[in-house]
Amino acid sequence: MKIAVVGGGFAGVALCYYLSSHKSVFVTLIDKKGIASGASGASCGLMHAFVGEQVRKSQLADEAFAESKKLIQMAQAESSEVFADFSGIERIAQTEEQRQTLLNYAQTSDDVSIISHNHFFLHKGATIQTIAYLNALWQVCKRRGSVFEKKEVTDEEQLIGFDHIVFACGAGIFSFSRFKNFRLDCTKGQALQIQWPTSYPRIQHSIVAKGYIAKSLEEDKVFLGSTFERGIFSMDPDIEVAKADLLPKFHAIFPELSLNCIGIKSGVRVTSKGHYFPLIGNVTENISIFTGLGSRGLLYHALFAKMLSNLIIKNEDKDIPAITKVLLSKNKGLA
Ligand SMILES: Cc1cc2nc3c(=O)[nH]c(=O)nc-3n(C[C@H](O)[C@H](O)[C@H](O)COP(=O)(O)OP(=O)(O)OC[C@H]3O[C@@H](n4cnc5c(N)ncnc54)[C@H](O)[C@@H]3O)c2cc1C
Repeated sequence: MKIAVVGGGFAGVALCYYLSSHKSVFVTLIDKKGIASGASGASCGLMHAFVGEQVRKSQLADEAFAESKKLIQMAQAESSEVFADFSGIERIAQTEEQRQTLLNYAQTSDDVSIISHNHFFLHKGATIQTIAYLNALWQVCKRRGSVFEKKEVTDEEQLIGFDHIVFACGAGIFSFSRFKNFRLDCTKGQALQIQWPTSYPRIQHSIVAKGYIAKSLEEDKVFLGSTFERGIFSMDPDIEVAKADLLPKFHAIFPELSLNCIGIKSGVRVTSKGHYFPLIGNVTENISIFTGLGSRGLLYHALFAKMLSNLIIKNEDKDIPAITKVLLSKNKGLA
């Protein structure tokens, strides 16, 4: 079976990995720019279950975290570069409601501990250097026989000859007429790269507060993210917007520090209207979609890639959440 996967981000590369574990499957991964050139490469690499203003634990979080961890650690074992840090994430509550929610988790589960009044520790938290991760994961796929083509897909006609096509192209999905009525939103995100002052102790873990501070491969640098500009399709960085949004969030955590911005990265993430789960499934018998990872890209990419691979290869959909099936039916105009 010859399968084309369009898009070399978390969705496309993870899917390629699960598909290529089947001996009779030959995957061609197609990306207009290269592996991790979209939102996944711009991502700050935080992986945890307590995403969003309400700090409620995401659905399927334990299964999703375990599957992502397995995939990331497998890729890590294949690479000489250390890109995965599973030492946990600090979470600072911003409101009394957030504090009470986190306190409740701390009292009822081992996932969360209390550091101080409004300061918590997420044990199931990781910081991943995403470009290095995806390149390592791709090397595994390549060894299994998958091939990469650098090409912009503008028309499905370009993919004639494949038995199955998967559109895992992030915000690129909006350029295909087949998906123009799909109920998807896009949000631009930006992150500033900061030179950490030598005179100040380095952070031990990434910190999530109003914004977040993510550790990076270089120990003396961190990323501040993320901005939320809804409905924007442009991936181009805008340093003034980023600084205006992010610096006050940083100073709320470290008021005494003056910052030296040395870089910026930006990308567009896609979310399903109606639920934060990604959108996966078959759109026709031989065309599938995998998008809508939103701000939970690392948390959900592996589990949902595995589900989609089982659907494509074994026609098995028992693990796909009912809400995902309903969302896809609605998008296809069937419900
Ligand atoms: C600044 C920022 C910070 C973030 N931080 C985090 C974080 O800390 N943790 C987290 O879990 N998530 C984070 N996210 C969200 C996360 O990045 C996304 O959920 C995830 O990257 C989406 O992956 P994807 O594979 O669906 O899309 P993408 O990574 O965008 O991949 C799509 C790929 O498809 C290619 N493509 C598009 N159109 C075409 C075409 N027509 N032909 C060929 N190729 C095409 C693109 O070049 C791209 O490489 C962040 C996002 C941003 C922007």
